[in-house]
Amino acid sequence: MAKKFPAQRIKGHRVYDVWEVAQALDCHKQTVIRWIKAGELSADTSRKPWLIEGKDLKAFLGARQTKITVKLAPHHCYCLGCKAPREPDGKMADYTQQTPETGRLTGLCPKCGSLMHKVVRRVDLEAIRAKIEVTVQKASPRIVSRADPRSNVTIEQKGQTHGKTQQG
Ligand SMILES: [Zn+2]
Repeated sequence: MAKKFPAQRIKGHRVYDVWEVAQALDCHKQTVIRWIKAGELSADTSRKPWLIEGKDLKAFLGARQTKITVKLAPHHCYCLGCKAPREPDGKMADYTQQTPETGRLTGLCPKCGSLMHKVVRRVDLEAIRAKIEVTVQKASPRIVSRADPRSNVTIEQKGQTHGKTQQG
């Protein structure tokens, strides 16, 4: 019997770390890590601590509840507005790679226009593409600060004589 987690405790605009998610849901930290590693819960794992957006957590908990009763088709997303699984509007969705194995599928709800998110495994992408049109988005570019190649430039100090401008 799957435990029902209190999704109403999660604030959509907040960002949580793993520990805070465990606290809010009254579950073990390892449980949260397992969800992330399984690609079920979307998280920024590019640096420590791992960060989970409240809206992703809400979507995950919503989808999790749905899974207990309704099996979500690979190309369906769970709409938080309708509280129902929906096929993305126009049979179109975007896919953004998030980890080497997983990415985020984003589409619009055809009924209420809400943005729907779902974490999918990359290996499942082809099955999804058989049903709907998926545009693969480039992951948001990271700002790379390069060392200035001109850092060896020596500042020449020339003994310049300044032309004096006499005023008055
Ligand atoms: Zn909807």
